[in-house]
Amino acid sequence: MKKQLIKYFPLFFCLLGTIFEAQAQANYLKITSYKVYYGWATHYPQDWMIIRQFENDGKTYYLLVNPQTLETKIDEPGFYKVKPMVLAETRDFFKNTPYEKALRKAEKQSANIQDAGIEEGMPKEAGISLTADLCPSHRPLDRVVFTDIFREFQKVERPAPVALSITGIWMRQHPQDLEWLKKMQADHEIYIIWINHSYNHRVSSKLPLKENFLLEPGTDINYEVLETEKAMLKNGLLPSVFFRFPGLVSDQQLVYKITDFGLIPIGSDAWLAKGQQSQPGSIVLIHANGNEPLGVEDFIKLLRSKTQSIAKKQWLLYDLRESVDEEFQ
Ligand SMILES: [Zn+2]
Repeated sequence: MKKQLIKYFPLFFCLLGTIFEAQAQANYLKITSYKVYYGWATHYPQDWMIIRQFENDGKTYYLLVNPQTLETKIDEPGFYKVKPMVLAETRDFFKNTPYEKALRKAEKQSANIQDAGIEEGMPKEAGISLTADLCPSHRPLDRVVFTDIFREFQKVERPAPVALSITGIWMRQHPQDLEWLKKMQADHEIYIIWINHSYNHRVSSKLPLKENFLLEPGTDINYEVLETEKAMLKNGLLPSVFFRFPGLVSDQQLVYKITDFGLIPIGSDAWLAKGQQSQPGSIVLIHANGNEPLGVEDFIKLLRSKTQSIAKKQWLLYDLRESVDEEFQ
């Protein structure tokens, strides 16, 4: 019996590998009719909120949110009992879930011109959620952020979760860096939560904040949100329920436009390059696009100062979905 087990062990792992492989996000290269679409999809015992619908190569797909865990997935409608609804109905239907509560909290904190939305996780936690922004940049990705995370956490937390705010332009400019990140993800060295950071990420050095970034007159918010999601899907990235405002700049109207897409704006209470210190439960912000070496240095320093706590599992990286989610359980 034992001998047989040993004989079949390699085959077992081979099959396991195939299963994991099959779960990797597909590249949707022929997307048409990509649109906002709301409703309830259920496959006992799990309910899902539908937030998008699209066609790819003749098949229909949904982007679905698990309102309890904030996890997302792409799936075909045939697997579910589906009830299309308008947004207000859908939000009412899911009103007691962590997802809906997080949307409401972001709306409540929408008045600030900077750093609206959810800006910290659960304070009880000894550790942080890392968010790294990939705004358009001519410089290469700061790969050291990710190789250092892997080195520090490989024995205690593998894959370590990081959230990357990505722009359409960055995806177009850096296909090799993107492939490199995807490879780390496929090898289970890190787990990436992809945050929508707009497509163009326009910025002016002259305009005041209230007319800058996405508040610039003439901004097409539909394009900025949906084209980024399409580019993610084309590149084999799974969109999350999160959105980060370029420059962390928004006004109340813009926050409501984003929550109308079913997306939760994510701020930060610890933008390291601006001298803000991280606390337990912080949502830390750095830029990994080569434009903010100071923030990267601070993060590496922070990481190294925690080496012993990390080894004892007393300081961890938290999955942004869980940090936001736990607050609303
Ligand atoms: Zn940015």
